[in-house]
Amino acid sequence: MTVKEGKKKIVRDIKVDVDKCTGCRSCEMACSAFHAVPKYSSINPARARIRVFIDEVKDVYVPLRAGEFTRAECNGRATYVIDGKEYSECGFCPASCPSREYFKEPDSGLPLKCDMCEDEPPLEVPMCVQVCEFDALVYEEREEEVPEQEVDLGEMDMAFESLIKRYGKKRVMDAFARLSKA
Ligand code: SF4
Ligand code: SF4
Repeated sequence: MTVKEGKKKIVRDIKVDVDKCTGCRSCEMACSAFHAVPKYSSINPARARIRVFIDEVKDVYVPLRAGEFTRAECNGRATYVIDGKEYSECGFCPASCPSREYFKEPDSGLPLKCDMCEDEPPLEVPMCVQVCEFDALVYEEREEEVPEQEVDLGEMDMAFESLIKRYGKKRVMDAFARLSKA
């Protein structure tokens, strides 16, 4: 696959407004139902790829979508105070991590990751956003320039690039000229 330089890509994102979240957990239910097999056959928030960190005493509600799996847990954690409310660093961390039960498939223990409700045909708006009545989750699409390093140069170009990095352009060109004559 070759991507031309200057190509744009669509970035899909879900903006979270923690001040609007009520902790109703509809997003967890919708996500787990959408990913059930067969689809919508069951609801189990433990299988959701979005979990809501709730601390009713501190009035803290943080919906968090599952990100990458990590083998190791952090050995030090920060606490954030935002508008007088105290949030733990874990409350903002999307990792599927050994230190908590979130984002692990309950039967197999395998990590879960938000896939933006990948489907065929694609959903216009992900399920968790569709069911959030309080606009705590807002779906956004934006266009971004593909950075140069993301451009797929193709196998041969990449091989040349790595040779040039290693041996320098002149030596590679000399070797190429020598081999062409052979
Ligand atoms: S559905 Fe919306 S308001 Fe309810 S817990 Fe999820 S993000 Fe919060
Ligand atoms: S976008 Fe889809 S997969 Fe991701 S958390 Fe929301 S409902 Fe779950």
